[in-house]
Amino acid sequence: MRRAWHAELAWLPGAGVLPDVLIEASGDRFTTITPGCVPAPASATRLTGLTLPSLANAHSHAFHRALRGAGQRGRGSFWTWREQMYQVAAGLDPDSYLALARAVYAEMALAGIGCVGEFHYLHHGPGGVPYADQNAMGQALVQAAEEAGIRVTLLDTCYLSGGLDLTGASLALDGPQLRFGDVTADSWAKRVDQFGADEHGMLGPAARLGAAIHSVRAVPPEQMHPVAAWAKRTGAPLHVHLSEQVAENEACLAAYRCTPAAVLYNAGVLGPRTTVVHATHPTEADMQLLGGSEVFVSACPTTEADLADGIGPFGALAEAGCRLTVGSDSQAVIDLFEETRRIEQYQRLASHQRGTFGAEALGYAMTWDGHASLGWPDAGEIASGSLADLVTVSLSSARLAGAVEAAGAGGLRGVGGSADGEADLGLLEAVIFAATAADVRNVVIGGRDVVIGGRHVLIDDVPGALTAAVRSLFAAE
Ligand SMILES: [Zn+2]
Repeated sequence: MRRAWHAELAWLPGAGVLPDVLIEASGDRFTTITPGCVPAPASATRLTGLTLPSLANAHSHAFHRALRGAGQRGRGSFWTWREQMYQVAAGLDPDSYLALARAVYAEMALAGIGCVGEFHYLHHGPGGVPYADQNAMGQALVQAAEEAGIRVTLLDTCYLSGGLDLTGASLALDGPQLRFGDVTADSWAKRVDQFGADEHGMLGPAARLGAAIHSVRAVPPEQMHPVAAWAKRTGAPLHVHLSEQVAENEACLAAYRCTPAAVLYNAGVLGPRTTVVHATHPTEADMQLLGGSEVFVSACPTTEADLADGIGPFGALAEAGCRLTVGSDSQAVIDLFEETRRIEQYQRLASHQRGTFGAEALGYAMTWDGHASLGWPDAGEIASGSLADLVTVSLSSARLAGAVEAAGAGGLRGVGGSADGEADLGLLEAVIFAATAADVRNVVIGGRDVVIGGRHVLIDDVPGALTAAVRSLFAAE
């Protein structure tokens, strides 16, 4: 099916923000992109505001969304929050996870997210007893994304031990953690092979299978290689939590006499298809290993702030050669504009300097690089041949009113090109630094409308679906 949209303003790769862009697609791919198309063809759908490629949420744990409203009590740390998170995990089964994840992914669609990387480790039933279909929980997540209309990369996670204590000893899985475990990496690989992905790693037209190693806390080094080998053999993206907490670094040093990044490097985990999540506390040498390996770094700044993790050295990581992406992780909020601006703002707080990252670099982190890190290198750009995914952000809310006028002030930052011929990015800056998820009006994924006028096309009442899913989970306790 052929479709056409006429964007009032659109961000195009390398060209900045341009007016009156005719965007045409055949099936799920863009065919031609024509800026300055006036008047608009009558057959084209008008998109009012700034149109971007759809956003990629590179790191998500869908079930953590149920903690919103229950996760901010009293003092504590990452480790006390983790106990609350385990209680939610204990109450889920494939049916209730399908309902919860479908609602969470619908919330993501409303926020302009076209693709989610689901870092999935809640594999088995209570006590670690496998379901009849050992991938029932993962299948529920794939179905949830399909029903919410978004792409998913299911990052099936190898999780074998309950952590390292401060002497470096490996702890057995315990309580709700038993549901995460596969005993060995080989049994993890056997289970994952039963998903039935095709030779390209696809689970469906909009679902891809990927791999994850939970962390150095949960997978001993000798068990990492089979996971990395599986990812290499299948061409799958490989994700891993890295140095989120100082305590993780300390325990890793005690156990293995090297940092978590060095453990991953020595186990053959790092490479251009690898994403390390957080990288809050790397050493200088770690950053050289990560950059030299050309890994992606998934920053999750709202979660890192919420869990008191610390401020990641994102500027230095990018300087070393890493490509940044963003993730909603614990779902403290689902708003990738918020995640993205915090990357730059935290560098300012830590360095007392503005302007580590410009709008274009931040824009690529939340779109093209995010998609690439999830195994969709042909998504995240409004360009001929790319997957036909669009997000339109209203510029008429109280938050963004006046941005068009300011961006064009004095002819220096005129829409469609600045006075000195450089690509104009003023409105992209305005959206990254001031928009919220609530400003998203339209979302197109694979050429298909998923959100129109701020309403989800496939799930009529997203707040109602979230309320019902969370209510049933807490009622079951
Ligand atoms: Zn995470």
